[in-house]
This record gives sequence, C-alpha cells and structure tokens, in this order.
Amino acid sequence: MKTIGLIGGMSWESSAVYYELINLKVRDKLGGFHSCKSIMVTVDFAEIEDLQHKDEWEALDKMMADSAKQLESAGADIIVLCTNTMHLCSPAIIENISIPFLHIAEATGMEIIRKGLKKVALLGTRFTMEKDFYKAFLYEKFGIEVIIPDPPGIEDVHRIIYTELVHGKIKDDSRETYKNIIADLELRGAQGVILGCTEIPLLISESDVNIPTFDTTTIHAEKAVEWALAD
Ligand code: GLU
Repeated sequence: MKTIGLIGGMSWESSAVYYELINLKVRDKLGGFHSCKSIMVTVDFAEIEDLQHKDEWEALDKMMADSAKQLESAGADIIVLCTNTMHLCSPAIIENISIPFLHIAEATGMEIIRKGLKKVALLGTRFTMEKDFYKAFLYEKFGIEVIIPDPPGIEDVHRIIYTELVHGKIKDDSRETYKNIIADLELRGAQGVILGCTEIPLLISESDVNIPTFDTTTIHAEKAVEWALAD
C-alpha cells in the first residue's frame, strides 16, 4: 500500500470525513486489521479564508505548495488536497512536487463520464462556481458542460458554506434552499449536480434531489485509495 498525503483543514469538518472514508475503503478492500497509510498536514482555516476573501491567491499558492512539499518530505506517495476551492492552487502545487497530485475535478469528471452525463450543475464556493479553473478543467478534459446557479443562488450557496457548513452547522432551512437551487438547475437542463465543496455532502445527499449527485469528498477519497492500493 502506498501512503496518501492529505492537505486538510479546509475545513477540518470535511477533512475528518476524508480520514474516515479512506480508512473505511481500505478496510472494505483488504479486511482484517487493515487501515490506510496516510499523513495529513492541517492548515489554520482562518488564515486561508481571510486570504481567499482578499483575493490573495499568490499567498495561497505558496501555502498550498509548502504543505504539499512537507507531505512529500514526510514520505507521502501522492498528494490529495481535501477541498475543491483550493484546487485553484493546483498548478503551484504540481510545480513544486515530484509525486503525483490527484485532482478532485479529475476524479469527479471520471465519475460523471462513467454515468454517461454530458451537462451538470456545479455547487461550491463562489470561487469554485465563478472562476474558471473547475469548469474549464471538466470541459477541456472530459467535454462536460457545467452550469452554475443564478447570482442570488450563488450568494446563498456561498454564504451557507462559510457561515454554517465549515462550522459544522447543518440546518434544515439551508437544505431546502439548496434543494430549490438544484431544482432550478435541473429545469435549466442539468442532468446531475456536483456537490463541489467538500462540506456540501454534510447537508445534501442523493435522496434529497431528483438528479444524480456527485459527492466530491467521497469520490476523491475513494479514488485516492484505489490509487494507493493499485500495483
Ligand atoms: N471545503 C470547501 C471546498 O471544497 C470550501 C472551503 C475552502 O474554501 O477550502 O471548496
């Protein structure tokens, strides 16, 4: 088994889910006393959130690249960045390491293609929905068309992530808000919806909506284990 290097803390609510999922998956695959070989570097999300909202992406590039280098020198065989938004920094990470980087949109794109879908909605932070790094990746690599909510919907999805989900607050009225936004995206032709923020699966699951959901936390964690266990 290879060792998975996790960059966590964005937020720790979802990093804890990653940690549980990789261990469950290894137990599932290997049985017995097996658990996942992993190393996690955890950042202080207060610093990250502040820089994100000041649009200081160069400083964030450096923090993410430093975390990845730390994991590489500690013996990680692959880097898994436990957040969608911070994949904005993936070029800086890749440039600074010599081990593979498992991109969350690559793992998710593979699942969307496996299900035969061509047009999907993307929910995430405003950075993930509005900036091009995620949508362009899915379009260029897989030919998947990605749509996002209207401006009030973007505002609601973003606000609920930062004021509730990253603090572990799960509220029924916010679930309703998300369900209405997803229903609107379905009317606009979305065949599925990417839960493109690693905390959204804490709020929304497949049974809440009419179209397939792509839980990026689970997809990413499971792909990492598949890679770690491959020959
Ligand atoms: N975990 C979230 C994501 O997947 C949001 C927190 C962050 O900005 O990293 O995008």
